Amino acid sequence: MAEQLIISISGMRGIIGENLTASIAADYGAAFGTFLKNAYPKKDKLLVCIGRDSRPSGEMLQFAVSAGLCNVGVDVVDLGVVTTPSVGVMLRHIGCDGGVVITASHNPVQYNGIKLLLNNGIAPSSADAEKIRKLYFDKNFSFVDSVSCGKISANPHTSAVHVYKVISIVDKNSIAAKKFKVVLDSVNGAGGPITKALLNQLGCEMVAINDEPTGLFAHTPEPLAKNLTGLSEAVKKANAQIGFAQDPDGDRLAIVDEKGTYIGEEYTLALAAKYIFSKKKGYAAANLSSSRMVDDIAAAAGGSVIRTPVGEANVANAMVENNCIIGGEGNGGVIDLIIGPIRDSLVAIAFVLQFLTETGKTVSQLVDEIERYYMIKEKFPADKKQAQQILKAACEKFSDAKLNDADGYRFDFAEGWLHLRTSNTEPVMRIISEAKSQQIAQKYVDLVQDIRKKITG
Ligand code: MG
Repeated sequence: MAEQLIISISGMRGIIGENLTASIAADYGAAFGTFLKNAYPKKDKLLVCIGRDSRPSGEMLQFAVSAGLCNVGVDVVDLGVVTTPSVGVMLRHIGCDGGVVITASHNPVQYNGIKLLLNNGIAPSSADAEKIRKLYFDKNFSFVDSVSCGKISANPHTSAVHVYKVISIVDKNSIAAKKFKVVLDSVNGAGGPITKALLNQLGCEMVAINDEPTGLFAHTPEPLAKNLTGLSEAVKKANAQIGFAQDPDGDRLAIVDEKGTYIGEEYTLALAAKYIFSKKKGYAAANLSSSRMVDDIAAAAGGSVIRTPVGEANVANAMVENNCIIGGEGNGGVIDLIIGPIRDSLVAIAFVLQFLTETGKTVSQLVDEIERYYMIKEKFPADKKQAQQILKAACEKFSDAKLNDADGYRFDFAEGWLHLRTSNTEPVMRIISEAKSQQIAQKYVDLVQDIRKKITG
């Protein structure tokens, strides 16, 4: 079966030339522009900035979305090939009414997508996303006449602005004095040039691999251990202190330690949080599927973690509401509201380098100091009715656990936790469990699988 074009709160994603084409993108741009005009009826002229990751299809989609925006009278600022967090930074820096990122994040090159941001740098709420979706499907666009069409201007300052802001949240001179030897793998995504600029300013001695933003991904782009063997080897060969891996749009970061060992994406947020909690008191925010390491780190510093439904916008909104000092997701996404309510690999890099600087420790030493958990992720097919039955049965089975029902069910036990949730895009249920031992984590999963077998056969 051909894959469907996915339209969700974070935007649209599909396969170029199959279900995602220039005309669809133009309509989506017109729908977003019409939505913004309806949201700000008193504004004469609206401004949207748009950037793209390095995929070869990005330019085509960017022009198409821009044409749709101009067609409804919205002016467009072209940021070119930039990271997703860079669009968030420029949106606020310029004072745009919205932002668009052309990216399919960690998905393979045949995919691309259109991600929408409101003027606060966060994806639309589900109510707003529904309005945009309806405008798109109804083709209810408020086109303008020939003299009122939007105009496109280019802004070439993204890298300078974003790097300057990230540098401002750390002590550049103390990091630079360490002359860290760093390997960077940007998978030929959008992150290479700007991250090299950041590392240069932080005085790092750098080996950059896959740093050309060609969109021809040098390996499977998701920053997982199995895809980062080249980075591990390069760290060992260069005798580097740390290796950084970005996904194609530069919002996620994975880390390889000084021995060339991939430490796991959950540690990106954990290390960033540990650094921030060594400086500040307050709340962190993380989604319900992220590691308990962050809770331990926050608790040790007298803070706590606000848990949110899965989805970057949920974490970002919780951070804004609670003025969180750090937040993010276990997939290597770190958010600092000073830079913007958006996952940012540059922020994560800066915090980890500052943490190494201040402690004088190696990455593996810092990892060893954080109590270890074992995480297991599984998924199985389940329709809506089956999912409800499984959740109900799990609730009875784990009645002694602390329950959070904000997004499926998360059960917290003394030794670990279990999160059961349905996918937003496919008839699938996901199980994520984490515990202080592999056996306990597996036990939680097995208990859920027993329930499932009784319900789905
Ligand atoms: Mg991404």
